[in-house]
Amino acid sequence: MDCKTIFEKNCTDKDPGYFLGAEGINSASASVPEEFLRKELKLPSVGEREVVRHYTGLSRRNLSLDEHFYPLGSCTMKYNPKLNEELAGLEGFSNIHPYQSESMVQGALELMYELEAALCALTGMKRFSLQPASGAQGEFTAMLMIRAYHKAKKNKKTRILVPDSSHGTNPASAAMCGYDVVAVESRPDGLLDIDRLKAAIDETVAGMMLTNPNTLGLFERDIQTIADLIHAQDGLLYYDGANFNALMGITTPALMGFDVVHLNLHKTFSTPHGCGGPGAGVVGVNEKLADFLPIPLVAKKGDKFYFDYKGKRSIGKVRSFYGNFGVLVRAYAYILRLGAAGLKKVSQQAVLNANYLRAGLKDHFEVCSGLPSMHEVVFSCARQKDRGASALQIAKRLIDYGMHPPTMYFPLIVKEALMVEPTETESKAMLDGFVRAMLEIDRDITANPRLFADAPHNSPVKRVDETRAARQPDLRYRL
Ligand SMILES: *Cc1c(COP(=O)(O)O)cnc(C)c1O
Repeated sequence: MDCKTIFEKNCTDKDPGYFLGAEGINSASASVPEEFLRKELKLPSVGEREVVRHYTGLSRRNLSLDEHFYPLGSCTMKYNPKLNEELAGLEGFSNIHPYQSESMVQGALELMYELEAALCALTGMKRFSLQPASGAQGEFTAMLMIRAYHKAKKNKKTRILVPDSSHGTNPASAAMCGYDVVAVESRPDGLLDIDRLKAAIDETVAGMMLTNPNTLGLFERDIQTIADLIHAQDGLLYYDGANFNALMGITTPALMGFDVVHLNLHKTFSTPHGCGGPGAGVVGVNEKLADFLPIPLVAKKGDKFYFDYKGKRSIGKVRSFYGNFGVLVRAYAYILRLGAAGLKKVSQQAVLNANYLRAGLKDHFEVCSGLPSMHEVVFSCARQKDRGASALQIAKRLIDYGMHPPTMYFPLIVKEALMVEPTETESKAMLDGFVRAMLEIDRDITANPRLFADAPHNSPVKRVDETRAARQPDLRYRL
C-alpha cells in the first residue's frame, strides 16, 4: 500500500492530521526527486524484546559515566545526580512552551531569575545571560559584548590576547569577532609570562581571554597584575569558566579582576554532556558590560516575573528563545541541593582528587609543572615514548582496563600530554584503581611491549584511523 492510500484510508476530515489533504501529499511527492521516493519501506519487523536488547546492547558497547571512570581533562565528565534529571522532567518544566504568556510560566521565570542570582553570587558578576547554548557560544557572546563596549567608547581596538595554553575555542571566538589573536607564551613552570605579556600589550588590545586555573590545571597567581595591565589600556579581561569546579566558594572571577565570564552549566552544574547534547554557556558581566548583555533578561516587578527587552545597547539575541531551559533546571536544582557549603566542598574535593592522582603517579609519569595542581593534572609521557609507548598508545591501553582515556596531546605546549581530570565525584577506590592501571601500563611498556602496538584489545571497536573517522564519519551500525 502506498502512503497516499494509507493516508486516505486512515484520515477523515475530522482528523487533525487531515490538513495536508490528498493534494498536499501529491504536491509533496511532486517536489521530491524520483530516486528518493520509495513505494515500500523496508522496515524491520521485530518485537519489543528484540528492539530493547538491540539498543541496550549497543549502549553497553561504549564507555560511559554511569559505568566507567572517565577522566577526560578539561571536559569535567563527572557523575550527574539522577535526581536532577527527574526534576528537569517534571511536567511543569518539560511541557511548557516559549510562546506561552508570561503569566502562565511564572515558575519557569522565577527559576531563571533565581539561577541568575545564584550564578552572580558564585562569580561576583553583576548580571548573567542564560541564553548561549554552549561554552563556545558563550565566548562568542562575550567577545561581541567586548566589541560593542569598545565601539561605544570609540576605542580603536584590534587585538585579543590569549595564552599559548588556551582552549582552542578562545582564539576561534575572538577571530570570529574580527579580532587579531595574539598568543602569549607561558613560562617553563606553566604560568603566563608577565614580561612577555607586558611586551604584547599596547593601546590596540581589546582584551585578554584567560582561564584560571589555566589549561595546565595551575592557578595563575599573578592574576591581579594581569588584570591591572589589561585594564590600564581599557582592555577587558575575559574568564573562560568552562571548568569552574576548582574555585566555587573559594574565590570569584570578580575578585581576580575579570570583567566577563562564561560558565559551562553542562560541565560544572550537573547536565550530562558530550556528543553535542544540549548545553548552556551562560555569560556573566560586571557593570562595565551589563548594558550589552543579550536580551531578554528576566526581571521582577512586585511579585511578577517578566522578560525585559529594554537594554538599548544590547548586542541582541544570540539564541532562539531563552536558552536550553532543561539545563537551567538541572543547574538550579544542583545549586539548591548543595548550597554554598556543598559547592565549596565540590571544589575542594575536585582539587584533592586531582592531587591524589598526581601524588600516585608523579614518580613514573612526569608532571608538567612543579606548582600544585588544581582540579586537573597534566602529565607528559615523553619518557614513556622514549621507552616505546606514546601518550596515544597509553591512552588506548586504558580502554582495556575499562577506563575512558584522559585528554591527549592537549594543551599543545606539553609534549605527549595526558590531561587527567578525575572530578570530585570519584571515590578513593576508583582513583586507586586508575593509579594501579597506569603503573601496570608503565611497567608493561618494558615488560610486554607487544601489548601497545594495536591496543585496545578488549573493546568492540579496535584501533581506528582517527583522521578518516573525523573526516568521513560512518555512523551506520552493522550487526
Ligand atoms: C569545554 C571548554 C570550552 C568549550 O565549551 P563547549 O560547551 O564545548 O563549547 C571552552 N573552554 C574550556 C576551557 C573548556 O574546557
